[in-house]
Amino acid sequence: MDEKDKLMISVSGIRGVIGRGLTPEVVLRYVQAYGAFAGDGKIVVGRDSRVTGEMMRRLVEAGLMSVGRDVIDIGLVPTPTTQMAVEKLHAQGGIVITASHNPIEWNALKLLADDGLFLNAEQGERVGKIAASCNFSFATWESIGKVETYADAVADHLDALVVLPYIDTDALRTRKFRVVVDCCNGAGGVILPDLCKRLDCDAIFINREPSGVFPRNPEPVPDNLTELCETVVAEKADIGFAVDPDVDRLAIVAENGKPLGEEYTLALAAEFMLSKRPGKMVANVSTTRALDDIAEKYNSRVERTKVGEIHVATKAREINAVLAGEGNGGIILPDLHLGRDAPLGLALTLQHLLEFEGTISALYDSLPQYTMVKDRLTLPGTADSAGIVEKIKDENADQSLDLTDGVKILYERSWVHIRPSNTEPIIRVMAEAPDCEEAQRLVERFKKELLTNLTG
Ligand code: MG
Repeated sequence: MDEKDKLMISVSGIRGVIGRGLTPEVVLRYVQAYGAFAGDGKIVVGRDSRVTGEMMRRLVEAGLMSVGRDVIDIGLVPTPTTQMAVEKLHAQGGIVITASHNPIEWNALKLLADDGLFLNAEQGERVGKIAASCNFSFATWESIGKVETYADAVADHLDALVVLPYIDTDALRTRKFRVVVDCCNGAGGVILPDLCKRLDCDAIFINREPSGVFPRNPEPVPDNLTELCETVVAEKADIGFAVDPDVDRLAIVAENGKPLGEEYTLALAAEFMLSKRPGKMVANVSTTRALDDIAEKYNSRVERTKVGEIHVATKAREINAVLAGEGNGGIILPDLHLGRDAPLGLALTLQHLLEFEGTISALYDSLPQYTMVKDRLTLPGTADSAGIVEKIKDENADQSLDLTDGVKILYERSWVHIRPSNTEPIIRVMAEAPDCEEAQRLVERFKKELLTNLTG
């Protein structure tokens, strides 16, 4: 089957290409199943700037109304804003209409529980079962749901952000950082200009219009940030920021035009937060080990979870972590809320830079240095990816292993992580080492071993 005709189903929702895998019928069925799962109460609906977002919003709201759920429509907003609105408005749940960093033809539903977190495995399974069996009933005329709109979700988000005790807005206003922000024509355009105004930054925006027509590949990885890097240098800015279209991932560009790589967004936040408050951190298994070095310096430690925001957020709540996140530029500050939040990351980074009293590249140089190489192996559809990875585990049984998610082999100063995808016939192979060559060598070695296991 062509990739574009598939419907990707995960615990936190569904994803597909509009008009191909993701048809109106499929969307309605999932939304109605979710409405049945959520039970009585209001459901917050927010969407990113995708061109198909408005059509999806109408479907989602009609689907919820048809099963008797009331809707609070908060409009075009970042994903973390919807998560916070669920909590703030005491809703029964929420639906985010976004395909995050996927290309323009994709859209998706991300389903939230009543605490603003993504659905966990058990909750997601329940929704999936209701959808598969169509085990929901339609409301009759007298109990059809209603829709109200709420226009202040972005302002609420920023209000909660700027009063955090770690952020000195007066000092930031006095410093007046010159920043360049690339919103990729996503939902960042509805929040980051206001945030920069509140911090009185001298801000230059590129791709600010939330039109959903992405001017570049929307994933904020270094290869896609050329325009931002050039603008930072040309405008003699202190720092550059890029976000993905639903504003839960943040990437940083130094004043010399060098992208720091997404892993360092969280590493910087770790250095800043642990210097302020003692406590533990949470990150997924494939996030940089710079975090462990930083935690050690502050007599702290990093608890590792499976990959995925819900795993990180749940663990952070369980152990009352100071900071949590993922190496893809996703920062979670439990004091604010339990979701990855790029506006938060931007504010924390500026405060950090202010207190450091140097350039962002000097601040970056002061952190433990590692390079990560991320690769993947595409398997024939029939391959037993779990079995192939299992063999790697057996062959490396004498090494230090972390089996939280796939197999991670830990060496003195480096590691390799091998993880089969749940939704596609691929195995992800990632390695990190103090230098790029060593990380690359590890990736090549294990890709070769995986291929041997595949044919052997
Ligand atoms: Mg995203």
